[in-house]
Amino acid sequence: MRQSYIGQEVFRISWKLKQKVRDILSEEQGTVYKSHAGKVRVCLVWPNVYALGMTNLGFQTVCRLLNDMENCVCERAFLPSKEDALEFSRTGTELFSHETQTPLHEFDIIAFSVSFEDDYFNIPAILSLANIPVRSSERRQGPNPLRGSNPLRGQYPVIIAGGAAVSLNPEPLAEICDLFLLGEGEGALTEFIALFERIEKADISRRRQEAVRELDSLPFVYVPSLYEFEYDGAKVRAIRPLRGAKERIRACKNLSLDNFIIPQSFIRTPSTGFGGTPLVEIERGCGRGCRFCVAGFLYLPPRSRNADAVKEAVESGIKATGKAGLVGAAVSEYPQIKELLRAGVSLGAEVTLSSLRTDMLDAELLALLNMAGYKTVTLAPEAGSQRMRGVINKGIDDRGIMEAVSLITEAGFTRIKLYFLIGLPLEEDADAEAVVDLSLRIKAAMKKGSLALSVNPFIPKPFTPFQWHGFADRADVQRRLAIIKKGIARQRGVTMSAMSANEAFTQAYVSRADRRASEFIIEASIKGPRRAAKAVAALMEESVHRQREHDEILPWDLIDHGLKKDYLWKEYRKGLDGKPTPACNVGACLRCGVC
Ligand code: SF4
Repeated sequence: MRQSYIGQEVFRISWKLKQKVRDILSEEQGTVYKSHAGKVRVCLVWPNVYALGMTNLGFQTVCRLLNDMENCVCERAFLPSKEDALEFSRTGTELFSHETQTPLHEFDIIAFSVSFEDDYFNIPAILSLANIPVRSSERRQGPNPLRGSNPLRGQYPVIIAGGAAVSLNPEPLAEICDLFLLGEGEGALTEFIALFERIEKADISRRRQEAVRELDSLPFVYVPSLYEFEYDGAKVRAIRPLRGAKERIRACKNLSLDNFIIPQSFIRTPSTGFGGTPLVEIERGCGRGCRFCVAGFLYLPPRSRNADAVKEAVESGIKATGKAGLVGAAVSEYPQIKELLRAGVSLGAEVTLSSLRTDMLDAELLALLNMAGYKTVTLAPEAGSQRMRGVINKGIDDRGIMEAVSLITEAGFTRIKLYFLIGLPLEEDADAEAVVDLSLRIKAAMKKGSLALSVNPFIPKPFTPFQWHGFADRADVQRRLAIIKKGIARQRGVTMSAMSANEAFTQAYVSRADRRASEFIIEASIKGPRRAAKAVAALMEESVHRQREHDEILPWDLIDHGLKKDYLWKEYRKGLDGKPTPACNVGACLRCGVC
């Protein structure tokens, strides 16, 4: 270990950790190295380990877009592995960026890209490793003792967050982050960085945390300290904007995807969740209206990208690595999916894509997938019984599922994966038995090979029709998981993986919590969620299981994604009545308010 000099500051750095990062960088292609001089310096942080962050196209794309701006430089940082975190503590090394190994507190902005609520617990840990106070109020109180006397540099970075999880409900991080960028980032970043730069250049002696107030003028920026929440038990009684803050935050949505760069693995590395397969987003949103699905509602309307541009991006990945992964909420519905697969096959590439809709499968598509080296066909029946598929508006039936399995088997596939949810509204034990029954029929139809079930407790999410519904009783979830486990136990070649009811309970709390959850997240990042929960057990139980009222103020009501709350309520009621809703008909429909 030695002391290192960045600007006027001195910080300690472990050479072992520095070398590890350099080894990672040496395997990357497409890394951007830029001078910091005269630029807004952003450290983009994925609040989990490197391999997961580099698999995420939102993270990759924000990094690329920021570095494409002349007035900005963006470097990356990640949650260290447990072993590396110990080395950070042992050597007193502060968390540093990958590209230039600059400590995080040197940046103007630390931007967390947050796709999953489970990663909230890593954010306080990352700030602590960077020697930055975890609470926004603590950072507002005084200068950064780690930095020099220069009035601009003597301040803490602005801590911001964006991404799918916080765009649904930023409140659980409201006491930790200074501001949020809500919605689809592509359309927001240029304006945000330009205003940030203008504010800082205009008066560098002003405290940066106060300058955050001016960023509230952007419609998609949410500054939580400018809003006061009043509570009535677990409910929110009132939300009041302070000091002239705007009434609502309009999340950014890019209706014309082709106006923006195609999200893809701009930085290629072998160390990703898909073994280094370069990914390309080919479409966004899904119009089928499955009532549980957060990706379906948050990213409405369904949007496809220009086929030529997509083909070019896919072929570029294939030429570099021989592989490609196609990403989107409804990949099998992309109008040119067969052309894309054909192009991949003609280049001798392996092409993977996420789960397939049973009603989009045909012999030609499956033959192409087979030729593209696709090994496991993933389907998402979500429920075993037709009654439950009616509640969630899944729009498929047993006959369609079994016909799809026949096609898959005839095409030569021997591995199928099925996604199921347990604990859905109105569910009974018989619906768990129906999961067993359907799975065993599918296995019998396969004759040989393996069937893997992924069964997860259903967690109601904001901006979906089930946002008012209580999370199922944990005992019911555990019992139904046990029914499925027992039901498949004797069948060879059928396996099951499941998220535990306790893990799901914690996620169910932070998904729909108000800002009182910030302290729980901070405590849980130190002690673990189970121990931290003891101090707030009653509030958590009530928040998680409570049936919300129709006209109740929800913590995320400040955010406008274009979806009408009344439409979501009608969909919720239709779900409880088991009534279907047809898929989106873009151009001829105005029912949800987005188009
Ligand atoms: S307005 Fe209609 S077509 Fe547009 S996103 Fe909503 S439901 Fe789909």
